Amino acid sequence: MLRFALAGNPNSGKTTLFNCLTGSTAHVGNWPGVTVDKREGLYKKCKEPISIVDLPGIYSLSPYSPEEVISRNYILDEKPDCVINIVDVTNLERNLYLTTQVMEIDVPVVIALNMSDVLKKNGDKIDEKELEKRLGVPVVVISALKNEGLDELMERAYEASKKKRIGKTVLEESELAHVIGDVKIALEGQGVENPLFHAIKLIENDEIERTMHAETVKMVEAFKKTFKNDLFGVDFEALIADARYKYICKHYSSTLTKKIKGITDTRSDKIDRVLTNKWAGIPLFLVILFTIFHLTFSEDFLWSSYWGLPSLEALGVMVEGAEGELEPVNFGIALFSCLYDGVIYSPGVVLFNLMDLLTSTVFGWLTEGIASLGASEWAISLIGDGVLGGLAGVLSFVPQIIMLLLLLSILEDTGYMARVAFILDRIFRKFGVSGRAFIPMIMGFGCSIPAMVNTRTLLDERERTLTIRTIPFFSCGAKLPILVAVAGAVGNMLGLGDGAWISYAMYVVGMALAVISIIVMRSTTQRGEVAPFIMELPAYRLPSGKALMIHLWDKTKHYIEKVFTIILASTIIVWFASSYGWDWRPAEIQESILASLGQFLQPLFTPLGFGSQLNEFGWVFVVAAITGLIAKEEVIATFGTLSALFTTVVAPELAVEGATDVMLMTIGTGITWQALVAFIIFNMTTIPCFAAVAAARGEINKGKFKWTILFWVVASYIATSFVYTVLSWWWTAFIWAAVIALVTLGIVIWNKKFAK
Ligand code: GDP
Ligand code: MG
Repeated sequence: MLRFALAGNPNSGKTTLFNCLTGSTAHVGNWPGVTVDKREGLYKKCKEPISIVDLPGIYSLSPYSPEEVISRNYILDEKPDCVINIVDVTNLERNLYLTTQVMEIDVPVVIALNMSDVLKKNGDKIDEKELEKRLGVPVVVISALKNEGLDELMERAYEASKKKRIGKTVLEESELAHVIGDVKIALEGQGVENPLFHAIKLIENDEIERTMHAETVKMVEAFKKTFKNDLFGVDFEALIADARYKYICKHYSSTLTKKIKGITDTRSDKIDRVLTNKWAGIPLFLVILFTIFHLTFSEDFLWSSYWGLPSLEALGVMVEGAEGELEPVNFGIALFSCLYDGVIYSPGVVLFNLMDLLTSTVFGWLTEGIASLGASEWAISLIGDGVLGGLAGVLSFVPQIIMLLLLLSILEDTGYMARVAFILDRIFRKFGVSGRAFIPMIMGFGCSIPAMVNTRTLLDERERTLTIRTIPFFSCGAKLPILVAVAGAVGNMLGLGDGAWISYAMYVVGMALAVISIIVMRSTTQRGEVAPFIMELPAYRLPSGKALMIHLWDKTKHYIEKVFTIILASTIIVWFASSYGWDWRPAEIQESILASLGQFLQPLFTPLGFGSQLNEFGWVFVVAAITGLIAKEEVIATFGTLSALFTTVVAPELAVEGATDVMLMTIGTGITWQALVAFIIFNMTTIPCFAAVAAARGEINKGKFKWTILFWVVASYIATSFVYTVLSWWWTAFIWAAVIALVTLGIVIWNKKFAK
């Protein structure tokens, strides 16, 4: 089958093009470094099916970043039938820098001039015919976003793939032309493929080439001794880069005619003056994050409880139900109560309520249906308590999680995320972390796994390690149910109404722990230099609705799949282990397998607030935290299953009206609100889910992986016991302060010694 590779600068639209061509749903983001691995898909509209490979974005084919190496090796070793070099035409010169290098390889090349819609809007013009003549390879104007010119692009690429092409260089006009020719002939003599490309890289002092062609290095060195350049001396890399840019400006730039404008700022510049302002930048970022969380899970996001609005009860639309609790008079009112009950709910909470109404109605019918069919008692318990009790808890949160992901994707797509990296770089550089590391961290609010993969753009191996370790502290979407449900119970205990403020505080604690861990690791086990941070800021863009929808649909599918596979399976196991004893017979919940396992581990959690100090039912928190290692949603699913069993079997009088699963657990175990807060912190900071652990293992050096697991265990243990003890007994803060001071002193002294 034919294989075409997409190569181009970061943010030039490769993934957008890839998605259009293959109908796939890869993630598109308006900041460099979204695609860090290659990806394959099928294009079917040509005479033969064509496999399309989306390569990571790169500025050159030097071996300085992992992406550059991946893309370079792919083109050289895998020999695609054609390279489609996608060029952001609004940044023509810089993008053509890569083109000049790709053209040196003996492979068919077609240039796709992307973002032509932006060009048109700016009133600029590109003469693609002329550019094609000067470059000597086909040039096609496209807009990946608007789906324009793609058929022609593939047609031309298909034609090109049928012909052989010999590499060509723009350096033939430079003073190095001679030596390039000599080295090329020498390499050809050795039977090296792509001799022109390798010859030039060798002269550039490219490390990979120097080890690969040790023989020829001598020849290059001999030449270099005789060479003298006024401007760059013997820095051949700079010399060659300069020659490329000069050639581009002289021969290619004139094909682009820009509409003459005054020296006014672009709109992006104006927005940036505010958003990346030295003083306002960080507060604005925090406000934006707050707004995102507020829209997602605040019950009262317009502060409408201060408006004195009447509750549904006061409106007289509630009636007394069979068990004495208040119910809406009809389904219409039930629907309305998802939006409003004395307060106006935030969009996220409305979504939650609607989904909750849906699941509880459908699951109610299911349970009744099974009972009326005369199913046996254990089947009713398995399906009613085990499966439905657990799944309902998780399913209700899916729309809310998706909403959070939507808001985060909008941040990425507008180009704001790149600014955040830029703002944070100014501060965190001092602590040894570049702003680039914050992009994966903030991605972690969605899901840790793509965030960990994204760290491949970090050059310093140690910076990468510590970034991967701190990513789970940025509470992911799957942890949102824990946050909302447990914080809701805490808010209820403290009479705060809803738990939104506690949830915000939890996010802040997570971020603070990340910063502290970074500082500690950078000054102990993961010392290192901060790599320079070079990332251009992409222009602000309105997010594309289509890309967002594709992305969200993908995530929704993923969550639903997860609920009906992993979560369902582990929920059944939890139900079984809590309904049966070690003799495999039905047992009271307190004599069950799960209870004995939980009780065995319980003492370990005493310093964290949810261990032995709780009553005989207190093991449920330990069990829930441990099932969270499978998937973080499982924590809430476990509460659902256990509280269903608990209220049907152990303490039916606890089935109070309107009490959530977590509230039932709270009443049943006698846990304090401080320990509940500690429980959230523990789940947020401890070992992430299996899938994320596997991702970390793939991304981190082998030797460092087991330390990473230990790091998560220790960090969460310390952070959780800190939160629990200080909230419970304020004076313990002094003990902690003393310990922290001692440890800091220890590190400082150790480092002084170490430095000598
Ligand atoms: P990659 O980093 O090269 O994979 O680039 P992406 O495909 O992730 O796209 C980067 C940004 O450019 C996204 O915000 C896209 O929506 C946007 N984009 C891609 N192609 C076009 C285009 O043809 N026109 C416009 N206006 N925007 C585009
Ligand atoms: Mg991409």
